[in-house]
Amino acid sequence: MISLAPSRAHRWINCPNSVYLEADAPKLPPSKYALDGIEAHGKAAAILSGKSSIENEPDNKMTNAVSKYVNRVLTLANGNKLSVEYLISLIYREKINLKGILDCFFYDEKNKTAYILDFKYSYREQVAFKNWQLLSYAYLLGSKYTPDYYHLELISPLGLSTWIASAIEMKDYYFQTLLNTMHSIYINDNLPTKSGEWCKYCAALATCPTIKSDIESAIVKEKEPSDIQIDDSKLGEELALLTRLKNSIDLRYEALYELVLSRIIGGVPINNWGVSNGRSSLKWDDTKTEDIEKLGKLFNIDLQRPREFITPTQSRDRGIPMSVLESYTIKNPGKLKLIRT
Ligand code: SF4
Repeated sequence: MISLAPSRAHRWINCPNSVYLEADAPKLPPSKYALDGIEAHGKAAAILSGKSSIENEPDNKMTNAVSKYVNRVLTLANGNKLSVEYLISLIYREKINLKGILDCFFYDEKNKTAYILDFKYSYREQVAFKNWQLLSYAYLLGSKYTPDYYHLELISPLGLSTWIASAIEMKDYYFQTLLNTMHSIYINDNLPTKSGEWCKYCAALATCPTIKSDIESAIVKEKEPSDIQIDDSKLGEELALLTRLKNSIDLRYEALYELVLSRIIGGVPINNWGVSNGRSSLKWDDTKTEDIEKLGKLFNIDLQRPREFITPTQSRDRGIPMSVLESYTIKNPGKLKLIRT
């Protein structure tokens, strides 16, 4: 059985062969970010299911994010029955299993609307519009309920992104695209492998032939003879080529680095490579706070850090409205950077 995860749908919709390449790729331990995400989701689910309370959590970044998500869900639900960490799946032709755990779902009978709410513990911008993870959940739920509308929403520490779409719009294009992709993965004949921004977290990065050949063909092009003085009309083209090359090399480099590191830590010798501890800084021993205070007095040095405000963003997350903060903050424009037009 081939498992298709909604959380990877952006990848397999754009690069269907990633499903097979990821399944064969070497497995790596989860990153710190992934572990933090699992912890934050666990806390949010426990609170929404009434097994825990936000008051039991420490005052930190993760609790702020969880609290924001929980409050939003409860406001939207407005008394409707919630399904939290809702496992949904659909078997296609006994070979493909589209299966995922939806963070939160409820069905508003009165407005015939299915609410699909996903918590992102991430500080990257999240966009609900045409989000294939949310669309996969909608597809899975559409076979069980018959909503007129879908309310799709991503909730992150940075804010919300919502997309409300009609069932007709969903069926005519998005569900059909999902079905067609599932079918081509089922047939598995000449499946396309296509690189793009969806490669970033692909488990097959270190072994993907397409990334490797992207790098090789960009290098060949870059080696083509050209004038030392690049003509202005060609500058953009050259920079675009180097950007593509750099992105592909960065992706492959990071994937190979993690793979070699995990191999060596696991006891597998890798030619020319070993591991050593990186630089680290001295830290106070937390168990000796009183002695450290005495040490400061002995040398007549104030060892306390000067008191600092938390950042304006942290203040906003804790409840001061942005409209109020605007009078107390300044925003300098960022450094100029190039963008693709
Ligand atoms: S690395 Fe990119 S191109 Fe290769 S399988 Fe993964 S998503 Fe597809």
